[in-house]
Amino acid sequence: MANRVPEPNPVVLQSDQLYQYILETSVYPRESQHLKEIRDATATHPAAFFGTAPDAGQLMAMLLKLVNAKKTIEVGVFTGYSLLLTALTIPDDGQIVAIDINREAYEIGLPIIQKAGVEHKIDFIHSPALLVLDKLLEDKENEGAFDFAFVDADKGNYLNYHERLMKLVKVGGLLVYDNTLWGGTVAKPEESVPVYKRQWRKATIEFSKSITADHRVEISHVPSGDGVIICRRIC
Ligand code: SAM
Ligand code: CA
Repeated sequence: MANRVPEPNPVVLQSDQLYQYILETSVYPRESQHLKEIRDATATHPAAFFGTAPDAGQLMAMLLKLVNAKKTIEVGVFTGYSLLLTALTIPDDGQIVAIDINREAYEIGLPIIQKAGVEHKIDFIHSPALLVLDKLLEDKENEGAFDFAFVDADKGNYLNYHERLMKLVKVGGLLVYDNTLWGGTVAKPEESVPVYKRQWRKATIEFSKSITADHRVEISHVPSGDGVIICRRIC
């Protein structure tokens, strides 16, 4: 029999069914009751899709554990799915600087965060994130003081956040960026993408290129949720 040339595996996650399979077999059964409550409380919000995808959240919890994260920064809280996930994962004396311009959304998740008994780890700051990061950098003690940062806010500012977070997160720490596939639009011709999505599609593509060229970090671009770029600061 002639040797059969193996066919390459098809690119994964090309169907909604496959995504549901991951959620139902590996993610939802392990999701904490409090996180599910935040998802449910957010479900009727007009921007419910803002919430971090549970599979990306599960990855993030694993990363937090792997680096023994204790002090973290979160840019983009919304109703608090990723924030609660972080608070549940870091130790009891851990601390999260959580920044958002929308306090109302945070207050939707806050009672659940309180019920989960982790509010004491959270310093929620109601402000544009760049101002807060710059303020933190005014104090030299904050340089390299954080173990982990999660960015899930205005995509046009990701590079600005990155420059500041590269000073705040320690060497060996992680900087994790969400929505780096921007609904798959990054791989589509611009003309085929709805006009309102084009600006952040462009910013997302530019961000990915810049991160790839940034040799101060090791990277992994993971097709989890809406795409996650994990950076490990190496210098
Ligand atoms: N990580 C959140 C979760 O798991 O539910 C979702 C975050 S949502 C996609 C993006 C958030 O970024 C919104 O709540 C929005 O108010 C916030 N945001 C947008 N621009 C911002 C800025 N310049 N500074 C701080 N927060 C900002
Ligand atoms: Ca997101």
